[in-house]
Amino acid sequence: MALYQENDLRIYNSLTRKKESFEALNAPHLGLYVCGPTVYNDVHLGNCRTFISFDLVYRYLTHLGYKVRYVRNITDAGHLENDADEGEDKISQRARLEKLEPMEIVQKYTLGFHQIMEKFNAHPPTIEPTATGHIVEQIQMIEKILEAGLAYEVNGSVYFDVAKYNQSNDYGKLSGRKIEELISGTRELDAQSEKRNPLDFAIWKKAAPSHIQRWQSPWSEGFPGWHLECSVMSTKYLGPTFDIHGGGMDLKFPHHECEIAQNKASQGSEGVRYWMHGNMLTLNGQRMSKSTGNTLLPLELFTGNTEKLEKGFHPTVVRFFMMQAHYGSQLDFSNEALLAAEKGYHKLMDAWQKLQNAQAGSNGEFSVSEWRQRCYAAMNDDFNSPVLIAHLFEAVRFINSAEGAQLALNAKDLELLRQTFHDFLFDVLGLEEISESQGGEKLDQVMQVLIELRAQARADRDFALSDAIRDKLAAAGVALKDGKDGTTYTLEN
Ligand SMILES: [Zn+2]
Repeated sequence: MALYQENDLRIYNSLTRKKESFEALNAPHLGLYVCGPTVYNDVHLGNCRTFISFDLVYRYLTHLGYKVRYVRNITDAGHLENDADEGEDKISQRARLEKLEPMEIVQKYTLGFHQIMEKFNAHPPTIEPTATGHIVEQIQMIEKILEAGLAYEVNGSVYFDVAKYNQSNDYGKLSGRKIEELISGTRELDAQSEKRNPLDFAIWKKAAPSHIQRWQSPWSEGFPGWHLECSVMSTKYLGPTFDIHGGGMDLKFPHHECEIAQNKASQGSEGVRYWMHGNMLTLNGQRMSKSTGNTLLPLELFTGNTEKLEKGFHPTVVRFFMMQAHYGSQLDFSNEALLAAEKGYHKLMDAWQKLQNAQAGSNGEFSVSEWRQRCYAAMNDDFNSPVLIAHLFEAVRFINSAEGAQLALNAKDLELLRQTFHDFLFDVLGLEEISESQGGEKLDQVMQVLIELRAQARADRDFALSDAIRDKLAAAGVALKDGKDGTTYTLEN
């Protein structure tokens, strides 16, 4: 019997606003779609959290024995600056700024995104389709929506007719909004607008002469609307109805609402059975935002090369920190919280080391099978990783309570404890051991010598030498950081 058959996994479905027992449509096969990044700049930490949350979901589903087809798209066709479907798209804007071809921007930031995900030990999706690779399918979906009478063409652009769709469907059901309120909350359309109703959204847009990314279509030379690609790529690879669709909470409206409408209009069914939304990240209690400067890039986090942190943190420590909060609740990043997470992480790993070398004795009060049940129960309760981690620490206390290497467990239970601890720590939570070569006492001593030599060079005003030490270390993947208590180092990996 597969693990999924003996576990009652419950998922909070954003659509019904309830925790529901999860049933896969075609077990053991399972379809999971997650909205991927728009690749026009460095992936920000909030997005990383979303992808790491769904990596946990993917890992646990796989651990339960599902054969998961995990699709996460790359948005490489330019979106428009604002929801009004006007203005310049972000990829073109960036291309102009960096004097690059749009596809160079796409390539550069896609690679960067993959590198960051790898550092976080997030598994790649099984299919990673691109919007520009699915223009033909997007045109076909537009044709179907037009045939259904739920879209209209104006001057080469095609708009989804929200009011008409809402006559026999419920637009707003996912985000819990009523169409009347939505309409009263939007600005009046100005005279040049091609839309019949301010809620209508573009599914095809005629390209302005300056627009670089453009494709031929029956309506004009142009490009697809923002929301269309996810409807197209999810149903293409996972079928007209599939199990789970995930994304950040900020995508619930309008993006996911529009996906439901497009699916229903083009194929008669809404597509998704369980909608899951990850919550946001704050930094020192405030919303992260580039414009206020309250922001942190993943690389700054790893190197400590920012005023906001005392030192850099290993990606697996950051990952552990994220796992300490439920994916559905808000999480606040701060120097102190990361330092605490780092301590907790080392406690877990030290216990794991001990457990590997432990010897069996006779059974005492710790029941491995009951503890194991509690670990599964935590994850079955909507992937509740903080509760799982609390249970892992229960085992840590038991392991540490042993005098010497002998645990109060018989050989069979010791093996079960080892296996379960390993499964949850590495396979499900996706943590990694920081290997000796990435730290250790010897390296500390060597680095101390280099740090002192550099300090001496600076004291002698030999800045050429002090800079050379810093730059050569950086090239070797060692970042120095000068703080008020002296210089520290972190290893990039
Ligand atoms: Zn999407």
